[in-house]
Amino acid sequence: MAEVYIGIGSNLGDREGYIRKSLGLMNDFGISVIRVSSIIETEPYGYTDQPPFLNCLAHVETFYSPLHLLNALQLIEKTLGRKRSIRWGPRTIDLDILLYNSVVIDTPRLKIPHPDMVNRYFVLKPLSEIAPDLVHPVLGKTMTELLNGIKT
Ligand code: ATP
Ligand code: CA
Ligand code: CA
Repeated sequence: MAEVYIGIGSNLGDREGYIRKSLGLMNDFGISVIRVSSIIETEPYGYTDQPPFLNCLAHVETFYSPLHLLNALQLIEKTLGRKRSIRWGPRTIDLDILLYNSVVIDTPRLKIPHPDMVNRYFVLKPLSEIAPDLVHPVLGKTMTELLNGIKT
C-alpha cells in the first residue's frame, strides 16, 4: 500500500463541487482518501489571465503503481469535464501526484516528487497542515522547512 499526496485544484464552474466529486471518484477508483487539507483560494500560477483557483490536497492510500495512479487520475479529470488545453490554463479539476512514498521518478510522462511543488505556496501550505514532518525524498527537508523557505 502506497502513501500518496495528491494536489487538487479547480478554477472553473462550481469549484468546490468539482473538488468534492474528485474525492468521491478517487474512493470509487480504489484510491482511498485518508485526509483532506483545508481549501485555500489562490491567484492563478504561470498563466495569470484566468479566474482564481481553489486548492487543497488529499492524503490517500492505494495499491496502484505510480503510472496506474496517473492514468486513474487523468480518467477522473476527464470524467469531470476537463479539457486539455494550455498548460497552467483554466480547468474544472487538476489532480497532480505530489509525493508517492519516497519514490523518485523522472520521466517525461511522470515526475515524482512533483518538480515545482517546492516553489508553490498553495502546495506547501496544505502539506504543512496535514504532514508537517514528512521529508522530501530528494531535498531531505520537511514540509514545514520547505514552506518556511519560500516565505519571504
Ligand atoms: P503542473 O504539472 O506544472 O502543475 P499542470 O498541472 O497544468 O502543470 P497538466 O496539463 O495537468 O499540467 O499535465 C501535463 C502532464 O504532466 C500530464 O499529461 C502528465 O503526463 C505530466 N506529469 C508529470 N508528472 C506528473 C505528476 N507528478 N502528476 C501529474 N501529472 C504529471
Ligand atoms: Ca498542476
Ligand atoms: Ca496536472
